Amino acid sequence: MTYIDPHIHMVSRTTDDYQRMAQAGCLAITEPAFWAGFDRSSPRGFYDYFRQLTESEPSRAAQFGIRHFTWLCINPKEAEDPGLAREVMSLIPDFLDRPNVLGIGEIGLNKNSRNELEIFEAHVELAAQRNQLILVHTPHLEDKRKGTRLIMDAIRRNSRIDPGRVLIDHVEEHTVQMVLDAGFWAGMTLYPDTKCTPQRAADIFEMYGTERIWINSAGDWGISDPLAVPKCQVELRRRGHTEDLVRRVSLQNPQTFLSQSPKFKVNER
Ligand SMILES: [Zn+2]
Repeated sequence: MTYIDPHIHMVSRTTDDYQRMAQAGCLAITEPAFWAGFDRSSPRGFYDYFRQLTESEPSRAAQFGIRHFTWLCINPKEAEDPGLAREVMSLIPDFLDRPNVLGIGEIGLNKNSRNELEIFEAHVELAAQRNQLILVHTPHLEDKRKGTRLIMDAIRRNSRIDPGRVLIDHVEEHTVQMVLDAGFWAGMTLYPDTKCTPQRAADIFEMYGTERIWINSAGDWGISDPLAVPKCQVELRRRGHTEDLVRRVSLQNPQTFLSQSPKFKVNER
């Protein structure tokens, strides 16, 4: 069965990963701008990263028949320096019309600090002005619930943002309900040990349903699994779920959310 991985950092992955993903049925991926594993020293580093996301990565994916889309921002980990963050943000508008850019992301909070919140709000405003979709990163573990609340409140303060055009990612058992109740889309990240495993994601579907929710691998330079989405498909089948349900969470839901951008297209097989 085919699938979309709507959150994966392919700049950190090998070409072999693209090959294995294509063999497992991957039709398209979306790659949010993120922390590189170290703090970049200047806005030029981000400029080159944005070029990589919009120029070289789409052609690497195309070799395997995978469509590559991206989201741009300065991530919350590097937003602690508002001067740098504002300079990086000033680079983004020129990239937004590039053919594979779907919106602003992954923005959000990391330590729930005041500087992070200020830069988060500035990104939300940019998305409102340019009518962009938003992909949101939520903090880890003990900060997640509080961070998710702060994020939802900040988005709601901007009255031009439709929650149906915002996906709040890395939800877990203690945050999924509040995200869905507020009208946002929710993303579950499947990691080998932290965040949700494929088994926990299957439990969450069984408890909270399959509306406005997707799964992704968030594969990056750390311990992560670029085949996590097809592995969750296998887990859902093992539990006796229908092919309809498997297709909904791994293909149709991402397609529905992402198609709100006219640029999003997949090559159906
Ligand atoms: Zn990510």
